[in-house]
Amino acid sequence: MQQNLNPEDELLIKTVREFAIREIEPLAEKIDREDWYPRELIRKLGEQGYLIPLNSNLNMFQTSLVIREIAKASGSVALIQDAQGELAGEPIRAFGNEEQKRKYLEPMSRGELIGAFGLSEPCCGSDAAALQTMAVKKGGEWIINGKKMWTTQGLYADVYIVFARTGKPEEREKAITAFIVPRGSCIETNKIEVMGFRGTGTAEVTLNECHVGDENILGEVNGGWKIIKHTLNVGRIAISAIALGLAERALEEAIEWAKSRVAFGSPLIKFEGLRWYIAESSAYLMSMFSLLEDVSSKYPNVSDAQISSLKYVTAKEANKIVDVALQIMGGMGYAKGTKVERIYRDIRLTRIGEGTDEVQLMIISKFLEREGIDRLLEA
Ligand SMILES: Cc1cc2nc3c(=O)[nH]c(=O)nc-3n(C[C@H](O)[C@H](O)[C@H](O)COP(=O)(O)OP(=O)(O)OC[C@H]3O[C@@H](n4cnc5c(N)ncnc54)[C@H](O)[C@@H]3O)c2cc1C
Repeated sequence: MQQNLNPEDELLIKTVREFAIREIEPLAEKIDREDWYPRELIRKLGEQGYLIPLNSNLNMFQTSLVIREIAKASGSVALIQDAQGELAGEPIRAFGNEEQKRKYLEPMSRGELIGAFGLSEPCCGSDAAALQTMAVKKGGEWIINGKKMWTTQGLYADVYIVFARTGKPEEREKAITAFIVPRGSCIETNKIEVMGFRGTGTAEVTLNECHVGDENILGEVNGGWKIIKHTLNVGRIAISAIALGLAERALEEAIEWAKSRVAFGSPLIKFEGLRWYIAESSAYLMSMFSLLEDVSSKYPNVSDAQISSLKYVTAKEANKIVDVALQIMGGMGYAKGTKVERIYRDIRLTRIGEGTDEVQLMIISKFLEREGIDRLLEA
């Protein structure tokens, strides 16, 4: 896609793209097929400063550019980046004290420590304020018990950002605290098999009498909700970049296929019926990129509803584009081992993870009720 970017951003795209082609692309199929976690590659991403870009002095738009290029090569590696960088790293970067940053954020940034974000639970995903994991203070220590669900990198993490209830259930979001919990014998993990984004270590994480001190509190006691909202906003921009990168790659694959596949004596690309699919999809890609650029460049001076609008639109349209790409490839798009088949499985999560479509619509509609449509469209 043609973009009018400044030379610094263009160079960033070129550098990440070269890295992705050299280091990620050759591993993408193995990661998916064998559900293989690319531990060494994560260190290499860290060396490049791509794991927690906001901690490497890149802004939110540049972070999105990094993620989009990674996603073009492998959705799984992009989700690993998101889990490490935006979900586990960002809360420490934004809310951690100097000691927490030194002990956790810096090694996570280098890929020496693996981090995971433990918000969702068996009881509740969309209704996160109902979470049931408990942290109780006894004799100067916090004792945490509970279960986290769907934790990306949960299987391999050295450190977990755990959101736990530190008050009554009816206090909902007012009684949630974020803890940094290093992996230890109190943590048990069970693998969850998922259809896409394989090799990302999705797990159920059980915390069984985990003892931590006050120094493991991230932010303030009962201040967890602010951290959740901040982190999910950054994560939603990141997952929008993943959706865009995946859709772009799928369409590129389909175009290449349509150029070489002959039917009725002519390459598929010559058929108007398919050309319109491709043209329509690329028009949506263009507008998705513009929206991503707009929202991420303005970040943090954007509303939750604007971020939710970006996430909703990019995830939804990217899913449609990948479906079209598969259709253009016919049976080959449905065959195991083709990139579009893998992307088709990966892309579906973008409408669920970091808040479902319906949750984004809830956020947007509440904003509209409170502030009006002019404020949503405000530059
Ligand atoms: C592969 C994978 C990786 C993930 N990684 C992480 C991670 O690293 N950390 C983490 O904390 N979580 C993670 N998640 C969890 C993810 O964020 C949740 O799955 C998501 O938020 C939805 O929650 P749920 O699955 O409990 O669905 P539910 O909340 O049970 O929702 C089920 C359906 O009901 C709809 N719904 C719910 N409430 C309403 C309502 N009021 N109005 C209309 N519709 C509604 C939802 O939109 C959805 O369609 C991951 C999930 C997956 C599948």
